[in-house]
Parts: sequence; C-alpha cells; structure tokens
Amino acid sequence: MRNWAGNVTFEPARLLEPESVAELQAAVARSGRLRAIGTGHSFSALAATSGDLVSLARLPRTVEVDPSGTRVTVAAATTYAALSTRLEGEGRALANLGSLPHVSVAGACATGTHGSGDRLGGLATAVLGLELVRADGELVRVGAVGPGAPTGGTGGPGDHDELELAASVVSLGALGIVTSVTLAVEPSFAVRQAVYERVPLESALGRLDELLASEYSVSIFTTWKEEVVDQVWCKHRVRPGEAWSPEPTLLGGRLATRPHHPVPGMDPATCTDQLAEPGPWNERLPHFRVEHTPSSGDELQSEYLVDRSDAPDALAAVAGSAGALAPVVQISEIRSVAADGLWLSPAYGRDSVAIHFTWVPDVRAVARAVALVEDLLAPFRARPHWGKVFAVPAPVLSDRYERLADFSRLADRIDPGHKLRNDFLDSVLTV
Ligand SMILES: Cc1cc2nc3c(=O)[nH]c(=O)nc-3n(C[C@H](O)[C@H](O)[C@H](O)COP(=O)(O)OP(=O)(O)OC[C@H]3O[C@@H](n4cnc5c(N)ncnc54)[C@H](O)[C@@H]3O)c2cc1C
Repeated sequence: MRNWAGNVTFEPARLLEPESVAELQAAVARSGRLRAIGTGHSFSALAATSGDLVSLARLPRTVEVDPSGTRVTVAAATTYAALSTRLEGEGRALANLGSLPHVSVAGACATGTHGSGDRLGGLATAVLGLELVRADGELVRVGAVGPGAPTGGTGGPGDHDELELAASVVSLGALGIVTSVTLAVEPSFAVRQAVYERVPLESALGRLDELLASEYSVSIFTTWKEEVVDQVWCKHRVRPGEAWSPEPTLLGGRLATRPHHPVPGMDPATCTDQLAEPGPWNERLPHFRVEHTPSSGDELQSEYLVDRSDAPDALAAVAGSAGALAPVVQISEIRSVAADGLWLSPAYGRDSVAIHFTWVPDVRAVARAVALVEDLLAPFRARPHWGKVFAVPAPVLSDRYERLADFSRLADRIDPGHKLRNDFLDSVLTV
C-alpha cells in the first residue's frame, strides 16, 4: 500500500471495505487497531498502519442537498470533484476549494486542507456537522447533521455539543471513522481566472496584503530562482450581471495572454481555464482539472502557515535562502486563509498566510530543505500542514497548535484503548 506520492508505504493487516454503515460499525468494534484512508493524497504518514485500514469507498456515495439549499450532507469518501459537479447541477456552491478536487471530503477536512482567500477559511470551516463511528463501534453525531437538522446541533441521542464540533472536524482521523459530513452551501456563482506574470518580488512581498486582498482568491507562485514571483493567479468572483475584465498589469506584473501551469514547463491543459474566461466556481477555484494528474505528479509537498502579520518577514526569510532552496523546489505557492476556531486547524485563531513548497521527489534533499525552512520559519511559530512533509517535533507542535493538548485529551477520552492511533499519531498526540 502506498500514498499518492509514493513516499509512504505500509502493509496493513487487512483492508476493510464495508458496504454499509452497519458493516463498518461491526468491523470497527471487532478491530484491534485501525486507521481510515480517503484518497491517499497526504504526504505525511497519517493513514499508514500495520493494523486494519478502512476505506469507505464502497459505501453508497450519497449527496443530499437540503431543500433549504443551505447545506448538503455527503458520504465521507465523496471527492470534491463529484460533490461540486452535483452541487453545481443543483445551482449550489461551496465557498472555496483546494487546488485539486481529487481528494475526499473527510480526508481533506481531517487534515485542515485549504484553498486561498482573505475571507475564506479552510475547507473544514464549511462543516456544520458530521457522523462518525467511534472506536467502540457506536455511531454518533456531532453538530447539525443531515437535511433539515437544527443548526444548534444538540438534543438527539449520541449528539455532542458545539465545542466538540470545533474539535472533531480537523481530527486527523483520531476520533472515529467519519461516515458523512454536512457542509454549508450557497447559491452557485461564476469565477473568472486571470494570471499575471513576473511580478517583482519586492512589490509582491512589500505589498503582500494588497496583493492577497486584490481578488476573491489569490495564489502567488514562485520558484525562488529570480527577483520576481513567476505567476499570480487571481480568481475573481463575478457578481450577477457584472461585466469584469482584468487590469493589464498588477504591481508591475503583466496579464498573461496564454494559459499557464504553476510548475514551469508543464502542460497548462491540465489546469482550469484562465484568460478571464467565465466559468462555474467548481471549474475555476481548483487549479487542476479532475481528469488529469494534479500538480507535477512527481513530487513531495510541505506547507507552513504563519500569522498574516508575520508573513512579509517570514517570506523575506525564505527568500534570503532562495539559493539553497531553489534546486529542490519545483514551485512554491503563497495563499491566504481566514482565521477559524477549529482546534487543529493550521489557521486556528489567526488570519494566516500559507507558504507552500512543491519539492522535487528526492526524500533526502527534501529532508534537508524542510529542516532549513523550519529553522527559517521557527521565529514565526509556523504551523505545518498535517497532510504534508514536516519534521517539527511534538513538543514544538504543541506550542504552535495551542489546542493540541486539549485535542489529545479528548481523543484519549473517546478512544481510551488508542485503537484509532498509528505511529504518526503516537508521536504527535501528547496523551
Ligand atoms: C497534488 C496535491 C495537491 C494538494 N493541494 C492542496 C491544497 O491546495 N491545499 C491543501 O491544504 N492541501 C492540499 N493537498 C493535501 C491534501 O488536500 C490532503 O493531504 C488531504 O488530506 C487529502 O485528502 P485524502 O482524501 O487523500 O486524505 P488521506 O490522505 O487519505 O487521509 C488523510 C487523513 O484523513 C483521515 N481520514 C480519511 N478519511 C477519513 C474518514 N472517513 N474518517 C476519519 N478520518 C479519515 C485519514 O485517517 C488521514 O488521517 C494536496 C495534495 C496533493 C497530492
């Protein structure tokens, strides 16, 4: 068994693929130790186990849009690609998406996956409720679950209070096997995507706030090889009836007249439409099209989130070591993520800037680069993305993720036998 990138390989005792929630409950109750897997796109060893591995891919892929049109309840293994196609077909939308739609809803939310946008939280902030099978096999609900559920989320048997929803969404799979997720949706909207080339690094970093605030969702791409950021992707949310066209320049960069791939030299046909062509939200907010391999396809990734106010200094620190990093970097992406209250979210309690690295697929060279980046970003208390390569040791993680100790205690209370743990969680959770 291997993850998408191939850097994590493991031999689970058994692969469990239940076809119903009842079958899953029985399997969880019987298992001695198990982990869930979504689509396996994490670069960290989050899902790796020598115990049982459970995939929900064979459970019915239900997608139920609430008649009010404000929420959708979706089977955990559903990909954002399948979900967003269905939602768009019903005139509904999610506020944001990550760079790739290939990943499962439960897996993405469990790791704090995010897109970009000054006013947009990570994907897990759309979660209103979820249903999960605890280590003892009991099916419980947290928050507002299912069509027509009250938003207060209390009262029914097995329900938990709001505080636990804040703990349970970005869960690293440590609280139970999530079977369905209820997400906030809104009316569908159109997006136009424009790309700017070669924005001087000095302007991009010096006027970072302005740049990130310039559109609904902004991604800044750089290889750290030159004194420019290579590309700035601007995703403009079109207001009904609005005639919008992009400015010819942006902070000294010029509007691209041909489509781009974020990684230099790669085919832009695998990317969503650019050149300000209007399209539905789900065909513009991700960078990559679902029918193609996302990103470079042969890579490792790391990502660190810093407080927005620290971002210019943090980026200047990285830029100061560009010479050492550039040979290992295929592309770096800089995005903004709004603060949230989800305990293990990398944007917990602080508006954040995410500094991402798509590395070359060389594990040793990446380990050296990761150590360097972690040193550079330590003064900014950078929180590593749970689903990507990092080496920040557990005590430091607990300092940066200030609710990690609370989460560890909660996970220990809910799963006292640590049935849902693996080596990764054993090293990260303090109890
Ligand atoms: C090419 C590429 C691009 C990416 N782009 C972005 C990006 O734009 N933004 C970003 O933030 N991240 C990005 N990521 C990271 C990715 O979104 C996360 O790693 C995400 O967790 C992947 O979802 P998955 O379904 O593959 O989860 P998996 O890797 O399969 O699992 C992740 C975690 O979720 C848990 N889990 C999965 N299903 C369940 C369940 N049903 N119940 C309980 N726990 C469960 C697993 O146990 C594991 O702990 C990218 C990754 C790749 C490979």
